Amino acid sequence: MQGVGFRPFVYALATALDLSGLVGNDVHGVFVEVEGSATRVEDFLTALRRDAPPLAVVERVRTRQLALTGARGFAIAASTVGGERETLVSADSTTCAGCLAELADPADRRFGYPFINCTNCGPRFTIVRDVPYDRPFTTMADFPMCADCAAEYHDPADRRFHAQPTCCPACGPRLRLLDDRGNPVPVDDPVRAAAQRLRAGKILAVKGLGGYHLAVDAGNEAATGRLRSRKHREDKPFAVMVSTVDDARALCRVDELAATLLTGRRRPIVLLPRVGDASVAGSVAPGNRQLGVMLGYTPLHHLLLAALGGPIVLTSGNISDEPIAYRDADAVDRLAGIADGFLTHDRAIHIRTDDSVVRPFDGRESVLRRSRGYVPEPISLELPFPRPVLACGAELKNTFCLAKGRRAFLSEHIGDLENFQTLRAFTEGITHFRRLFDINPLVVAHDLHPEYLSTKYAHDLAGVELVGVQHHHAHIASCLADNGVAGSVIGVAFDGTGYGSDGTIWGGEFLLADLAGFERVAHLDPVPMPGGAAAIRAPWRMAAAHLNAAYADAPPAGLAVLARNESSWQPVSAMARRSVNSPLTSSAGRLFDAVAAILGIRDSINYEGQAAVELEQAADPGETGSYPVEITDEWPIRLSGAALVRAVVADLGRAVPVPVIAARFHNAVADAVTLVCATIRERTGVSVVALSGGVWQNLLLTSRTMISLRDKGFTVLTHHRVPCNDGGISLGQAAVAGALDRAH
Ligand code: ZN
Ligand code: ZN
Ligand code: FE
Repeated sequence: MQGVGFRPFVYALATALDLSGLVGNDVHGVFVEVEGSATRVEDFLTALRRDAPPLAVVERVRTRQLALTGARGFAIAASTVGGERETLVSADSTTCAGCLAELADPADRRFGYPFINCTNCGPRFTIVRDVPYDRPFTTMADFPMCADCAAEYHDPADRRFHAQPTCCPACGPRLRLLDDRGNPVPVDDPVRAAAQRLRAGKILAVKGLGGYHLAVDAGNEAATGRLRSRKHREDKPFAVMVSTVDDARALCRVDELAATLLTGRRRPIVLLPRVGDASVAGSVAPGNRQLGVMLGYTPLHHLLLAALGGPIVLTSGNISDEPIAYRDADAVDRLAGIADGFLTHDRAIHIRTDDSVVRPFDGRESVLRRSRGYVPEPISLELPFPRPVLACGAELKNTFCLAKGRRAFLSEHIGDLENFQTLRAFTEGITHFRRLFDINPLVVAHDLHPEYLSTKYAHDLAGVELVGVQHHHAHIASCLADNGVAGSVIGVAFDGTGYGSDGTIWGGEFLLADLAGFERVAHLDPVPMPGGAAAIRAPWRMAAAHLNAAYADAPPAGLAVLARNESSWQPVSAMARRSVNSPLTSSAGRLFDAVAAILGIRDSINYEGQAAVELEQAADPGETGSYPVEITDEWPIRLSGAALVRAVVADLGRAVPVPVIAARFHNAVADAVTLVCATIRERTGVSVVALSGGVWQNLLLTSRTMISLRDKGFTVLTHHRVPCNDGGISLGQAAVAGALDRAH
């Protein structure tokens, strides 16, 4: 990568070992020539990997013998240009320890300066306009370096050697405080003034690395509630930013892995189990056992956290599901009705990049939203792409993927494409990535859904080979690529919605799959979705559909879900029965919705997946009971949702507590998955199971299923580098297109 301090590091290392030679950059990466004693050269090669600077990624080291030159001394060679580019742009990185020390040192010339950075840290991807990664091609172009900064920049021994965004109070960006209408408020210290306003319960829009956040004092119930109502975000949990791991421990259970995720250079939001007496306002994450926590990652965050002295709710700067604001004028326009003021600055954000979301799972990091801090670092794959590929991704939680060689570049989280701004981010993002990574796709992969805007985008491209990839095959392929596996697996793709090869809506699928193809060997019994998309927003409609499927005559009298929705129940049921505007679905997500509604947890939702999330949260993790599972002995196998629904209703009738029923339902789904997989294994001999699709964000379900499958001797693959939800679809599409291309 460029600008990560690798050449100065090599220079220092070679000099210390008394080796002669040179180090330089070319289009393939870094080249080094060293001359000296054999043991010292060995030491050099060892240290090259072991001690590389924090932002450098050493993918591989290739060595060969050269003739001795006898030259003395070590030099940094000038960069060569031209040829096909292979050097990479880094992801944005949290403020390093060196910069934090300077930030807090009254004698340092950058004391308290909110834009301090160096070769080891600071903004990267979010400020890059073009390649090569040089200051004139970043949003720092507007800030000519002062003499002091320039001297550091040109000194190979300095921590800021070739640090493109380096700056100081004399030459760099400045902080400003604005009122609720975007007019400047003259204050001596914008950070202190902002902290005072937060302490007084105000809502502030704070400009971050990849966009604007909305901030309130996390301990202030009234302010948090006000933020919810102004943002029209009724229930979806907010994330909280704290200064240190110890502060995080006051809110959540933080084990060693969680601490590593919190303190790493990427600084994602980490979902962790909250402690009982967590000192945050109740409306931060209502009814949720988890809390999203992150540590400050910009100098401004550190200054603000120190000035406030407590955790801050930091949520994306938008109204409900819109993309976050990142351009200054637009932010003032859109957030004026929500924020009481703006803490902003004049360094432009070039690419809107949301906070990433991860959680520790099964001993490693599991990424749920891959964006700031991760993007554009490539996912390296086992098998190469014969021709460059563009994969257009899904409709919701869209990401796209450009791939060549062994590298797949996944985009930042684009969001739901139904919105004009996200669609523009999608098309402009593809253009940007093509330029940054010099990839001219010849193969373009897309979903089979004809109405996805990402599919339409693909169909509008000329002169490329199109590859349609079934949604759930893409999920499973994504999980395979994520784990570096190519071979045959039983892919269990459970999600909300995906276009099936037969034109119905799939989502509870068992696919015998490899990267190149799949066979649908089992699935949930389809039921109608009364009203189509309306049934997604109103889980009680799915309850009606599943109850109708479970009871030939009529569901038992006295069901509360029926009583609550009595006026619409008959027309909706009739619609489903007559197949009017009621597409068939085998979706597992919709089964979870139905059970959530039957249990009285949620009849209609305010955010995607809410009913299933709340069903999981309601479940008593101590309950080990389950329900009998029914499968057919046809091929493909059909798994009966009706049997599960009848068991749930029977328990309700016996007044079994809801948390117990919710847990038994989870356990039964885990048992069902295991039974179906065991039946498929008997017939096919395949004993590796890949779990993918948004339903597997359910931690209770995933852990129960893994335990149950491993118990039966299965090897289980889950996602870790890319999301199991539709954010990972583009990688799967690319992997499928690459495999088909290799097979040609
Ligand atoms: Zn630094
Ligand atoms: Zn300067
Ligand atoms: Fe999906």
